[in-house]
Amino acid sequence: MSEEKGFTLWFTGLSGAGKTTISHILEEQLRARGSKLEILDGDVVRENLSKGLGFSKEDRDTNIRRIAFVADLLSRNGTPVITAAISPYRSIRDEAREMMGDRFIEVYIEASVDACAERDVKGLYAKAFSGEIKEFTGVSDPYEEPLNAEVTIKTEEEEPAESAAKLIAYLEERDLIPAAVSS
Ligand code: ADP
Repeated sequence: MSEEKGFTLWFTGLSGAGKTTISHILEEQLRARGSKLEILDGDVVRENLSKGLGFSKEDRDTNIRRIAFVADLLSRNGTPVITAAISPYRSIRDEAREMMGDRFIEVYIEASVDACAERDVKGLYAKAFSGEIKEFTGVSDPYEEPLNAEVTIKTEEEEPAESAAKLIAYLEERDLIPAAVSS
């Protein structure tokens, strides 16, 4: 792929909604097409770039602003980015949108609290419901759904591979990645 176009797929959704899972499928598929795609995963960012930040609104906003800053740097230099962080507050997502303009693609990875709690991939919902973890998004902390997401992916209704295929189709449609070469 020469002269790759930069863009940011900005995933937002509850813990366990499917952000990391879908980002990894997309990573594999886009890299196979020669993309330099980078992922900024919320859990990974909190281990390094945002180490020490907590879950107050102020710290969450700082975390998301840092992610947006890096996503902007990469995407404006032709590197596609997926951010996979809960990013619960609409105003900060809108800040990121303003910063990146039409490189910013908001993707709502939608699953209900009940579905995420049933999956409880990391065992966090049980702790949130028992009160062991405080300020848990969707349980004891706000989640503001996107109002104008470019793409909404309903992970209770489809398999991860289908979700990834929809996003690939969207990127092809917008001419942000070349159409797959059929063999
Ligand atoms: P997040 O990164 O949003 O916290 P994860 O990707 O870690 O969420 O976990 C999502 C869980 O939901 C995984 O166990 C995954 O297998 C499951 N799942 C079911 N359907 C989907 C789907 N369509 N897309 C993504 N994940 C799904």
